[in-house]
Amino acid sequence: MVENGHISTAYVQATLKAPDTEYQPLINVLDLDCWPKDPLYDQLVQGPDLEEQNINLESPWSPWQPVATRTLKQGIDFDLVVLGISVGALKYITPELMDASQPWKDMVENVQSSPTQAMQLWMKPNLEQTGWKMASPVLDGYEDPFNTWADMTQTLDKETWPQNHLPYSIAYFCNNLDEPAQIPEFSDHEYPAREHERVKQNAIKWLNKNTGYIWPNISNDDGGLQWDQLVDLQDGEGEARINGQYWHAAINPSERYVLSVAGSADYRLKTNGTAYSNLFITGDWIDNEFLNIGCVESTVVAGFQASRAISGYPERIFYVTK
Ligand SMILES: Cc1cc2nc3c(=O)[nH]c(=O)nc-3n(C[C@H](O)[C@H](O)[C@H](O)COP(=O)(O)OP(=O)(O)OC[C@H]3O[C@@H](n4cnc5c(N)ncnc54)[C@H](O)[C@@H]3O)c2cc1C
Repeated sequence: MVENGHISTAYVQATLKAPDTEYQPLINVLDLDCWPKDPLYDQLVQGPDLEEQNINLESPWSPWQPVATRTLKQGIDFDLVVLGISVGALKYITPELMDASQPWKDMVENVQSSPTQAMQLWMKPNLEQTGWKMASPVLDGYEDPFNTWADMTQTLDKETWPQNHLPYSIAYFCNNLDEPAQIPEFSDHEYPAREHERVKQNAIKWLNKNTGYIWPNISNDDGGLQWDQLVDLQDGEGEARINGQYWHAAINPSERYVLSVAGSADYRLKTNGTAYSNLFITGDWIDNEFLNIGCVESTVVAGFQASRAISGYPERIFYVTK
C-alpha cells in the first residue's frame, strides 16, 4: 500500500534457505522455462512444512501465517508501484486507499468480478478421431457449467508423457462458477477444498452427459464420455480417470474474472488516475479508453498505457487514439 511515502504491512510468507540469493521461481520443461504448480520448496526454510500441509500461499483462506512483516520504503526499496492484481482483490489489499479516495472506493465497489471454473482433459484420440468435424475450435455458448471448449493440442509437444500413456489431443473447458451469496470468511480454511470438490463433481456430471454432440466417436449413446478415452497415469476405472486430469476452482480474489456489468465502466480509473503520483494501475479492469472488458487485448493496451505513463514509451498505442 502506498501511503505517506512508504508501503506498509508487506507480509513475508516464507524465507530463503540462502538469504543472499534471489528466489528462482521457474522450472525448465523441454527447454522452456515454466511456472511450477507449487513453490519450489527446496529453496525455502519453510518448504517442508508448506509441502506437508499442502499450503496454497495464494489463498487467503489458507491457515498459513506470515513468518514476518516488512515495511518497504519509497526511494530505498522502490520508486513507484505498478498494481496489476485483479480488481477482485483490491477491497482486501487496499482498504487504506478506499478510505482515502472516493474514486478508488467507487471503482473497487462497482467494477465487479466473478469466480470461474476450469477443467483440462488429456485424451487418447486426436481431434479428428473424437468425431469433431470442423477445424480446431474455441467454442463458446455450449452446455453449462463448462460452456467454453478450446482445443489446446498445440501444447502437447511442450509436455512430457511416458510412451505408454501418450495423449493425442488436449481439451480445456471453462465457465463462470456460481458463488454463495455470502462468501465464507477467510477463517473457513476448508472452503477452497469444498469448491475444488464441487468443480470436480461438476466436471464428472458434465462429462457424463454432454460430450456426445462434440465427440460422437468417443461418447456413449446417452451422450456421456467413454471414460477410457482419457489418459490417466494411474489407470483408474471409469469416472476415477478424472483424477488424472486437471480441474480448478478460481475463487481467490486475485484470480477472479473481471466483469463489465452495465454502468460500471464509469467507475474505472485510468492508469495514472489514482490519487498517488507514484501508483500506476494496469490490467483488464482499468479504464483503457479502448475496450473495457476482461480480455487479453484490454490487458495489453492497459500495459502499454502504464508503460507510457511511466516512461513515455510507446508514444502511440495501436487502436487507441488518445
Ligand atoms: C476462465 C477464463 C477464460 C478466459 N478466456 C479468455 C479468452 O478466451 N480470451 C481473452 O482474451 N481473455 C480471456 N480471459 C481473460 C483474460 O485471461 C484476462 O483478461 C487477462 O488475463 C487479465 O490480465 P491481467 O494482467 O489484468 O490479470 P491477471 O492475468 O489476473 O494477472 C495478474 C497477475 O497478478 C498476480 N498476482 C496476484 N496477486 C499477487 C501478489 N500479491 N503478488 C504478486 N503477484 C500477484 C497473479 O498471479 C497474476 O499473474 C479469460 C479469463 C478467465 C478467468
